[in-house]
Amino acid sequence: MTDYSTSAIFSNKKTAFRRAIMHWYTHQARDLSWRGTRDPYAIWVAEIILQQTRVDQGTPYIERFLKQFPTVHTLAEADEDAVLKLWEGLGYYTRARNLHKAAQHVVEHRQGQLPTNAKELETLPGVGRYTAGAIASIAFEETAPVVDGNVKRVLSRLCNCPDNIDTPATTNAIWEWMTTLVRGKSPGNFNQSVMELGAKICTPRNPICTSCPVQRYCLAYAHDTQSTLPVRTPKKKVPHHQIVVAAIKKNGRYLLGKRPSEGMLGGLWEFPGGKVESGESHEAALHREIAEELGIRIEILDALCTVEHAYSHFKITLHVYTCRQSNGTPTPKAHTELKWVYPKHFEQYTFPKA
Ligand code: SF4
Repeated sequence: MTDYSTSAIFSNKKTAFRRAIMHWYTHQARDLSWRGTRDPYAIWVAEIILQQTRVDQGTPYIERFLKQFPTVHTLAEADEDAVLKLWEGLGYYTRARNLHKAAQHVVEHRQGQLPTNAKELETLPGVGRYTAGAIASIAFEETAPVVDGNVKRVLSRLCNCPDNIDTPATTNAIWEWMTTLVRGKSPGNFNQSVMELGAKICTPRNPICTSCPVQRYCLAYAHDTQSTLPVRTPKKKVPHHQIVVAAIKKNGRYLLGKRPSEGMLGGLWEFPGGKVESGESHEAALHREIAEELGIRIEILDALCTVEHAYSHFKITLHVYTCRQSNGTPTPKAHTELKWVYPKHFEQYTFPKA
């Protein structure tokens, strides 16, 4: 590991650095509806939603979620299906299920009070070090650091860090740097100021150094290396799967299956189907998948539509076929539940985005 102790942000300029970035944050930060609250529950909800979601996409979800479940008690009492329905389209549904579980835990075991420090917050389902630090520093003024992608990028540039920020060793070093920096009053504002700088000024491509409030403390700017930093592991090519699904119609209703609650897209409803294996035709794959998942045979009628969708680690092309059941009785072999549903009632079910 490189020695960064000479970096301006670890010298006696630390206080001036903090003052500069927080002054900028106070005057220039985006006016986001969920910011400004000290309610730990609202901060928790916002942080979980924004973990893998862009701010512009996540903000309406945060507003709707807090409107429907304004307190930890209302969330704890809710049906999991209602929680998933509000999350529909956001992806990473484990976040919603964990949030719901954690709310129930807080109500059952902590009289509805969230823990007030990062260490204890981390014991809740779905709350990692970042989320715990964010809630503790913003709601409870604990001098707990946060490190997310924005923080990593900003600090690696400020320190002109030549090390790969995707490695555990550099990530740990960045947590230590943030621990050193988050001091004094308003630790929550300090944490948010670094993240905001990463989101608005010190962006992945073309950072706007001419408008940067901490340019004078930045070693990457001094060495003109900002466009080459941070050093990252090159992304692997993501696999692309062909998926076939059957819209099986009977008497105006379609057969839907509910996915098991653990695992990817857990607890969501879908048309049955699955992955086309190498060398297999779409039709053969659909017959095989339906026999495996439902124990029935089908007649394929028509190709209905094709949908492209990207998940974080792979892409899919979804081929949808209208089908008719030809024999057997559908049995849930891959789902926890099967239902025949009129299209006008689809609204009541939570589906994956694709
Ligand atoms: Fe980022 Fe440029 Fe500011 Fe350095 S000067 S922190 S590279 S925006």
